[in-house]
Amino acid sequence: MRIDLHTHSTASDGMDAPARVVAAAADAGLDVVALTDHDTTAGWAEAEQAAHEHGIALVRGTEVSARSNGISIHLLSYLQDPTHPALVAELDRTRDARLGRARQIVELLAEDVPLTWEDVLEHSRDAVVVGRPHIADALVARGVVPDRDAAFVHLLAASGPYHVPHYAPDGPDAVRAIRAAGGVPVFAHPAADARGRIVPDRVFDRLAAAGLAGLEVHHRDHSPQQRVRLTAIAERLGLLVTGSSDYHGAGKANRLGENLTAPDALAAIEDQGTTEVVRP
Ligand code: AMP
Ligand code: ZN
Ligand code: FE
Ligand code: FE
Repeated sequence: MRIDLHTHSTASDGMDAPARVVAAAADAGLDVVALTDHDTTAGWAEAEQAAHEHGIALVRGTEVSARSNGISIHLLSYLQDPTHPALVAELDRTRDARLGRARQIVELLAEDVPLTWEDVLEHSRDAVVVGRPHIADALVARGVVPDRDAAFVHLLAASGPYHVPHYAPDGPDAVRAIRAAGGVPVFAHPAADARGRIVPDRVFDRLAAAGLAGLEVHHRDHSPQQRVRLTAIAERLGLLVTGSSDYHGAGKANRLGENLTAPDALAAIEDQGTTEVVRP
């Protein structure tokens, strides 16, 4: 069983439409794929239809933005009720904050490089969530940088001069909101230190106490040493271990199925979640 539990579509900052993500997952020989766009469930319906067409199982999810003492963290929510009012309101608030924050980043960048808000709108046309990757695409189109990754080296770096953070719920609150909506919360790439600051160990304890279900241990942004460390933390706290590609389409190097989740971890997620896995 080849199971990849973390992908993005044009509903957020991926480059493939939801149906294309699912088709590409089937082509890549995956048996199960999760669609986990940032702070939205807008891609779910299209992905579900495509899963039936392509004969692949689909886990519907969301990558929920959160914060821990000023550090940005991501929580994968699997199989939640997409209409649960409290979680819907929280995601609305975050998406709204992302929009204002993206405009601020563009204003700062526009002082030094050729870039307009219209450029960014053009590159986030199908998205209901605006993220830095859309700004990166606009910078690539303007010839400022060669590709998305290059945009993150300086211009869009979390530690850089143009960075603006956005509102997101506190980690334990987000975990509780996901659980209240019947979702299964898994801490995404918790040790991805190339992207920005990562949380200290005590945060894992706090998130676990709030109801965290698992850690995304196997992710390209984790070194072998970090994977060993995270596996030990998961064992100590009784958390599931997952692995995923974090596929964003052609804009990033991440390939579908490059990291996988074990069937028993998926079975536990399915047991705990409210929404059914779509089966072919
Ligand atoms: P945002 O949601 O606007 O904060 O942007 C975060 C997204 O940008 C992540 O989900 C990644 O897809 C991408 N990203 C963040 N840091 C980097 C990085 N250092 N290199 C490449 N992509 C990154
Ligand atoms: Zn992303
Ligand atoms: Fe993420
Ligand atoms: Fe992601």
